[in-house]
Amino acid sequence: MSTSLLYHAFGIRGYYYTRTDYQGGATIFTIRQEPEACRCPACGSPEVQSRGQVERRFRAVPIGCRPTFIDLPIPRVSCRACGVVRQVAVPFADPRRSYTKAFERYALELGRRMTIRDVAMHLDVGWDTIKDIQKRDLSRRYAKPKLKHLRHIAIDEIAIAKGHRYLTVVMDLDSGAVAFVGDGKGADALKPFWKRLRPSGAKIEAVAMDMSAAYRGAVSANLPRAKIVFDRFHVMKLYNEKLSDLRRALHREATDVLQKKVLKGTRWLLLKAAEDLDEGKDEKKKLKEALALNESLAAAYYLKEDLRQFWEQPGKVFGTLFLDGWIRRAEASGIKMLQQMAKTLAAHRSGLLAYYDVMITSGPMEGTNNKIKTMKRQAYGFRDKEFLKLKILAIHETKYVLTGT
Ligand SMILES: [Zn+2]
Repeated sequence: MSTSLLYHAFGIRGYYYTRTDYQGGATIFTIRQEPEACRCPACGSPEVQSRGQVERRFRAVPIGCRPTFIDLPIPRVSCRACGVVRQVAVPFADPRRSYTKAFERYALELGRRMTIRDVAMHLDVGWDTIKDIQKRDLSRRYAKPKLKHLRHIAIDEIAIAKGHRYLTVVMDLDSGAVAFVGDGKGADALKPFWKRLRPSGAKIEAVAMDMSAAYRGAVSANLPRAKIVFDRFHVMKLYNEKLSDLRRALHREATDVLQKKVLKGTRWLLLKAAEDLDEGKDEKKKLKEALALNESLAAAYYLKEDLRQFWEQPGKVFGTLFLDGWIRRAEASGIKMLQQMAKTLAAHRSGLLAYYDVMITSGPMEGTNNKIKTMKRQAYGFRDKEFLKLKILAIHETKYVLTGT
């Protein structure tokens, strides 16, 4: 093998080829460094004395399907200038890594199209090795996203495992990128975000969130000028949860077998937007039958479809009239679930109407949350929470197969 092939195929320059060995299907190249090329790793001085050598083996880019290694006796030197005694630097590998930088780049490149498991199998290394390579790359590029340009953000929590482990995600609503991932939920989870945000000079105008008190206080305290918007996505999610509860309670209380069956079959139909009901599957008809059987379910369903119109009004004046009208109707319905919802919306009225000042919604966050859910199903990703956080920060990038293991 020539010195130039060492460089062009394996990314190794400044060494001499010694010999090639074949062991158990692997190809091993031994290379050496000339003593006169040795420099002090601390100060760079060439005034060094030899202090023996340390044998090291590096995994290199494979040749076809054959694992390939580089064996290098690394000179130890003592420096006359600074007194340090140490191994000389190895420019083709990162410190404490047993593979070359070229191998790392190759593994990252494969990771664009293959899962970590597949890359590890192909390269004949452990899953953790490939995960660490990806993790360091993600960390270099995504650990600290720039925050200066943030104007409209959404804050939400996501459950990452059973037993109520959470992460808090801040999303840039203008770009769709994740700007921050914090541990846990509530005000504490956001503390590192404020710490990084302050010196960034970002002028955040509006924040979308759900109606729970979790982040409201923290946002008011840290972004006193930003508008808080209780957004459509979360309001409708809450409503649908309550609607499901109502249906479940009615199902439980129903004594008639037919009524029980009809209520059971409408679980998803109730939550669907009316315009999405599938005519081909008779969904409209099925829903109509169920609603005809139960007055309070019908009221809750129609008020849901109605509430969706709140975000479709031509402006704040109409929006205000609509919201107040809706609240009155829900209160007058005599149905507990609707009265509770009316109370909640009334208590958050200004944050709901703020939508007509800055038209933002956490809608894009839903797509992100769905991707995270897919990642969650792969248990492996969760053995390392920091890796998961980095994957979430990089989620808008299509560069890696993020959802596989
Ligand atoms: Zn030195």
